[in-house]
Amino acid sequence: MTTADMKVLVSGASVSGLSVAYWLSHYGFKVTVVERAPDLRPGGQALDVRGAAAVEVAQRMGILATIRERSTKLAGMSMVDAAGKETFRSEERSLTGGKFNSPNVEILRDHLVQVLFEAVGDRIDFIFGDSIETLKQDDTGVDVTLANDLATASPRRFDLVIGADGMRSNVRRLVFGPDEQFAHYLGSYIAVFSIPNFLGLDHWQVFCQNGDRGGGLLVLDKDQPARTYAGFGAPEPLTYDYRDIAAQKRLLADRLADAGWEFPRILAFMEDTPDFYFDAINQIRMDEWSNGRVVLLGDAGYCVSLATGQGTSVAMIGAYVLAGELATHRHEPLVGLKRYEQALRDYVLANQALASDMSLPDAPSGDAAGGDAVIDPDSVPDYNERAIPFDLKSYETLLRS
Ligand SMILES: Cc1cc2nc3c(=O)[nH]c(=O)nc-3n(C[C@H](O)[C@H](O)[C@H](O)COP(=O)(O)OP(=O)(O)OC[C@H]3O[C@@H](n4cnc5c(N)ncnc54)[C@H](O)[C@@H]3O)c2cc1C
Repeated sequence: MTTADMKVLVSGASVSGLSVAYWLSHYGFKVTVVERAPDLRPGGQALDVRGAAAVEVAQRMGILATIRERSTKLAGMSMVDAAGKETFRSEERSLTGGKFNSPNVEILRDHLVQVLFEAVGDRIDFIFGDSIETLKQDDTGVDVTLANDLATASPRRFDLVIGADGMRSNVRRLVFGPDEQFAHYLGSYIAVFSIPNFLGLDHWQVFCQNGDRGGGLLVLDKDQPARTYAGFGAPEPLTYDYRDIAAQKRLLADRLADAGWEFPRILAFMEDTPDFYFDAINQIRMDEWSNGRVVLLGDAGYCVSLATGQGTSVAMIGAYVLAGELATHRHEPLVGLKRYEQALRDYVLANQALASDMSLPDAPSGDAAGGDAVIDPDSVPDYNERAIPFDLKSYETLLRS
C-alpha cells in the first residue's frame, strides 16, 4: 500500500490535528479532518512553541518565520496584589512566555491555529460542524459514522482514525472509555476568554494572585481585546455540566467575585464574551495511546496540562513523530503506531512531571507590600528554562534511504 492509498480521518482541527494533517499530507496520505466547531475554534490565551525540538518542528513545517511574525511581541509584564498594588514589573520577560531573549515563540492560540490551517492549504478535506458518532474497526480499516450522516446511515471507511480532539476527546471516549478512567485532576479550574481591553494595556501582561484564586490579562495591540485567564483552586473535582456555559460562568463568578483587583469588572465583561473556555486543570494518563487502527494525539492522549505551558510543544512534536512513523511504516501502520508511542512516552512523562513545579510566587501580604517591587524576581518561574529536550528523527532521510 502506498501512502496515497491510505485514508486517514483526524478528529479535531486545533494544534495537534492540524499539525498531523500537515505532516500526513506532506507524506502523501489522504487526510480528512472533522471539527465539531462550525469553523476553526477561536479563543485561548498565549501558547508557546518552546524548546529546540518544537521550534525545529515549526522550522521543518515552514511556519517558523510566520509564527515569529505573529508572536505576541509583549513589551513586559506586571503582577499586582488583591488591592491592585504592583508587586513586580519586568520589561525583559512575560509570565507565560519567559525571557524575551529566548528562541522560543509565544503566540495566541487562535493565531497559531490559523497559521497551521494556512500551512495545510487545500490538500486536506475539512468537515466543520460535525463529530464522530460511531467507530467500528476490523483488521483492515475503520467504519465511521459522523453525526450529520446518521440519517443516511452510510459509514465512511478509513485506514486509520486519529483522535486529536482535546482533553475531553470524543474519540477516546468512544474507543477507550469514559474520561474518569484517564483524567487526573490537578486541583484547580481555569477559564480563558476575551473581553474589552478596559485597562488600556499595550503589548502587556498583568497577573493577580490572591491565595488559590487568580487571573490575568494579556493584550497585544491596544485596540485588541484582552485575553483573560481566571481560575481558582478546589480540593476535589466539581460536578457541573461541561456543555452548560452559563453554569460555568456562574461557578467562576461565585468563586472570584470577592478576589479583589479588577475581578468584578472582568466577571461583568465575561457575560458577553464571544469565546468562553472553562475546564479543570487535568492531565490525561493512559497506558496505551492506540487501539488497533485508532490512535490518540496531543491533549486527547496525553494532556500535560495547562499548568506546564508545554501542551503545544508536546502536541506539535507528537504530530511530527506520529506522521513520520506512519510514513516510514506505511506497509505496517500498526507497527508505526507502536513506534510513535515508544518514541514519545518518556518525553510526555517528563513534561507531565513539570506540572508539580509550576506554582506562582505567593502574593506579598500587608506590610511587606509597602515597597516598590516586593516579589523576589528569582521566584517568578521562567518556563523557558524547563523545556525538555527531544531528539527529532529525520523521517525525510529515512524515507529516502
Ligand atoms: C478554546 C481553547 C482555548 C484554549 N486556551 C488555552 C490557553 O489559553 N492556554 C493553554 O496553554 N492552552 C489552551 N488550550 C489548550 C491547548 O490548545 C492545547 O493544550 C494544546 O495546544 C494541544 O492542542 P490539541 O490540538 O491537542 O487540543 P485542543 O487545542 O484542545 O484542540 C482540540 C480540538 O478538537 C475539537 N473537538 C473537540 N471535540 C470534538 C469532537 N467531538 N469532534 C471533532 N472535534 C472536536 C475542539 O473544538 C478543538 O478544536 C485551549 C484549547 C481550546 C480548545
